[in-house]
Amino acid sequence: MELSFKDLHLSEEVLRAIEEMGFEEPSPIQAQTIPLMLEGVDLIGQAQTGTGKTAAFGIPIIERVLLKDEAVQALVLCPTRELCIQVAEEISRLAKFKRNVRVLPIYGGQPIERQIRTLKKGVQIVVGTPGRVIDHIERRTLKLGGVKTFVLDEADEMFDMGFREDIELVIGHLPETVQKTFYSATMAREIMDFATKYQDDPKIIRVVKKEMTVPKVDQFYYDLDSHMKPEILTRVLDIYNPNLTIVFCNTKKMVDELTEGLVDKGYFAEALHGDLKQTQRDQVMNKFRKSKVDVLVATDVAARGIDVDEVDMVINYDMPQDDEYYVHRIGRTARAGREGTAISFVSGREYYKLRDIQKYTKTKILRKELPTIHEIRRTQDIKHLDMLRDAIEKGEAKKLEHLVNVLLEEDRSPVDIASAALWLYAKEKGIGKHQELDYVDNDKVRPPRDNRRKLPFDKGGKWGYARIFLSVGRLDGISERHVLSAILNSTHAQKAEVGKIDIYDKYSFVEVKERVSKDAVQALNKSKIKGIEVSAELAKPRMAKPKKRWHSEPRRG
Ligand code: AMP
Repeated sequence: MELSFKDLHLSEEVLRAIEEMGFEEPSPIQAQTIPLMLEGVDLIGQAQTGTGKTAAFGIPIIERVLLKDEAVQALVLCPTRELCIQVAEEISRLAKFKRNVRVLPIYGGQPIERQIRTLKKGVQIVVGTPGRVIDHIERRTLKLGGVKTFVLDEADEMFDMGFREDIELVIGHLPETVQKTFYSATMAREIMDFATKYQDDPKIIRVVKKEMTVPKVDQFYYDLDSHMKPEILTRVLDIYNPNLTIVFCNTKKMVDELTEGLVDKGYFAEALHGDLKQTQRDQVMNKFRKSKVDVLVATDVAARGIDVDEVDMVINYDMPQDDEYYVHRIGRTARAGREGTAISFVSGREYYKLRDIQKYTKTKILRKELPTIHEIRRTQDIKHLDMLRDAIEKGEAKKLEHLVNVLLEEDRSPVDIASAALWLYAKEKGIGKHQELDYVDNDKVRPPRDNRRKLPFDKGGKWGYARIFLSVGRLDGISERHVLSAILNSTHAQKAEVGKIDIYDKYSFVEVKERVSKDAVQALNKSKIKGIEVSAELAKPRMAKPKKRWHSEPRRG
């Protein structure tokens, strides 16, 4: 029996937040470190990004915060500004139902006055880069006397970046009794020496991996932007047309969203996760076994032990949090001597997980080019030509010959008549929906990998900026001025944080600094521009036309 979050003795509020975030069970690093961190001991956890390490230290930090106390009680050091923001956001989400827990990321590049103002109001959890933290210590705007938990995140990365002295300086300002925990992808010598010097009898947590036989499955991956995942999933399903497919997501929330999207598009998809009652699960599984459902969208927990022989394809829509999960997942296909394919969708930092999985499974997972619209057309063409040949051979179409004759008498060419009939049929069936999507060539959708690390959230804006799509444009009487004032009035963004504004007939784009982009989207969605209600969303890369992620077009008649 796997450990559940409830077994970890967490508060109602944190459990509620975890539920809302859709986490189904603790990841291996969480299961091991949360109880120890709650006890207050020092530890070193070996965990890389993607394993759930942020929540592994974030949850105990939140649980150990005394709400009445306004002092800084936890300090997390991260190597980069992006990581600071991400970690602070994740902790804030986990603390959502704990009233009065305040989390603040502090990093260079952001006006220090703003950070000072917030610090003065009382913040219990600070997530910072070493340089900026020292700056605040020296200005006496950050007091560390009340800190109970100290976390060094991505310790190996920090050492590589030459932060050792800075870290030592910060540790020097912490109380003697502080709990010190280090998280690192490797247990390099330098880290272990550092631990010996600064920690008190630390517990060492390695997520021990069992030796596993890797099933013989044809494995490959796509390198794609996360916003393209739904589209590519449908392309894969259309082109490969697998008999039964299991699509794996990491959270219940994602499972529900994705299932809904697929059903809207006309796929026979069902969700499988731990929130379903046993009878519901049995129903879903029965349908899947009988092929009444083609696509099962599942979490790892729910899919454990599924043994349906006819599964042709496993798709890792999210890369798994643990290498072992990967092996479990792909083992759902290629059963009983059949063939099977496992496709992983790898976006951004998930690449590191792919690398680890390859190391762990000692297999090379090859990258494949994204399936193109062209391939879908070709697959559809083949299918429809077959259908036409079949219809001609069966002779049923003869019943409509008199209509053809009428048109021939009007001097229309047989080719025109046949094409028009086919076109009407295709329209009726929703065939060719992908041809309307206007995605550009796949290779242009993503910048080359080397550039990508500089661009943490690639949303098609210029470096450091996100691009927001707005549903209003020139025909609504909108000008750049209107968009700019809407942003400045409804968000905290400064003028300097707003970039290029492009107004088109029916929609517009505006670039804003990454850090304000989420707020801006939220605020714009609630606001009106020139009296018109707008819908705003983070844009797809520049080359793609703005379209809603999901269309509700039937796939099957
Ligand atoms: P991290 O390793 O902290 O960068 O986390 C990677 C991603 O996994 C983040 O998006 C987390 O929100 C998510 N995550 C963390 N814990 C869990 C969990 N127990 N189940 C599912 N997702 C999780």
